[in-house]
Amino acid sequence: MVRETGYYDLLGVSPKASPDEIKKAYRKLALKYHPDKNPSEGEKFKLISQAYEVLSDPKKRDLYDQGGEQAIKEGGMGGGEFSSPMDIFNMFFGGGGRTQRERRGKNVVHQLGVTLEEIYNGSTRKLGLQKNVICEKCEGYGGKKGALEKCSTCKGRGVQIQVQQIGPGMIQQIQSMCSDCHGQGERFNSKDRCKNCNGHKVERKKKILEVHIDKGMKDGQKIIFHGEGDQEPGLEPGDVIIVLDQKDHPVFKRQDDNLIMKMQIKLVEALCGFKKTIRTLDNRMLIIHSPPGQVIKHGDIKCIQNEGMPIYRDPYDKGLLIIQFAVEFPEKHWLPEHMLPELERLLPMREDVMISDDMEEVDLCEMDFESQRRSYSGEAYEEDEHPRGGGVQCQTQ
Ligand SMILES: [Zn+2]
Ligand SMILES: [Zn+2]
Repeated sequence: MVRETGYYDLLGVSPKASPDEIKKAYRKLALKYHPDKNPSEGEKFKLISQAYEVLSDPKKRDLYDQGGEQAIKEGGMGGGEFSSPMDIFNMFFGGGGRTQRERRGKNVVHQLGVTLEEIYNGSTRKLGLQKNVICEKCEGYGGKKGALEKCSTCKGRGVQIQVQQIGPGMIQQIQSMCSDCHGQGERFNSKDRCKNCNGHKVERKKKILEVHIDKGMKDGQKIIFHGEGDQEPGLEPGDVIIVLDQKDHPVFKRQDDNLIMKMQIKLVEALCGFKKTIRTLDNRMLIIHSPPGQVIKHGDIKCIQNEGMPIYRDPYDKGLLIIQFAVEFPEKHWLPEHMLPELERLLPMREDVMISDDMEEVDLCEMDFESQRRSYSGEAYEEDEHPRGGGVQCQTQ
């Protein structure tokens, strides 16, 4: 039994969530609260990654489910320390540890929402993004060659030190980056500074990336543009990583390479056969057919070969289209009572029930699922306005 749900709540998933659901939840939240995008939410970013670190590891998740945060902190983590949120993030999104290498700019991760149709048919999306590129005019030097001077504000140290009196006989030194030379210690005087980039060595430019979504790509799959990250003099640029986020579809649910859909059929169709149509994700119409003599029961599952999702990199092969049938029964009193015997004559025979005097006759009534749910959850133990009726409530009709 799950005692605490704090980590699940942080990721917005239920304690019964599958590993995939946990991954997806982390992916969305980590991108949303990453300090690059949301600098004021550092604490939230940290909490999300701690929750993910625990819940993504079956052993730690088990430990948490049994003993809560306390158990995790008491050494379940091997030293009780969490990994840094950035390490978790880079492990999740990074292009195979390349981010760790020095002299490389950082990777930029973007999420791209895609429809099931786009993944089924394949598509190309144009993504415009702003990035730093080396200034063309000064080739990343920032000004006239040889005109770099020592910064007079910080005397070349790159930092400024402020002294503050914080009490009698107590002073505090605050060290901050020199704002005039941005910590470089050197600067151009205004006449030698590159006019194009104002001495920043890089300029902001819009770049259009063409993202090719191949047939059968998966939710969460990464498309990596090597070296398309921000440019900076002396650094190899990082990558732009596009992470696909598959949107829900009103009809089809994807399960790996299979598609699952629900189909409502009438009782008459269940018993006497039917023809039905299905519109595919590439807009073809399929006809399915249950011949007379076949019976489809409520909850029956059938499938159509090769009408699921295309297999990634082998798109002529497809998974299954799985259909879950729901049989719609008629409402009460749909048939005048005097006609029921006629219907009964056509239906399979009922079984006789032996009844004797020592048996007890009881009422069959509608289930009230709502009050049942309430009484099994913790709410029943609170001071409740509703007096406690025992367990399941039954309403007589
Ligand atoms: Zn320039
Ligand atoms: Zn300076």
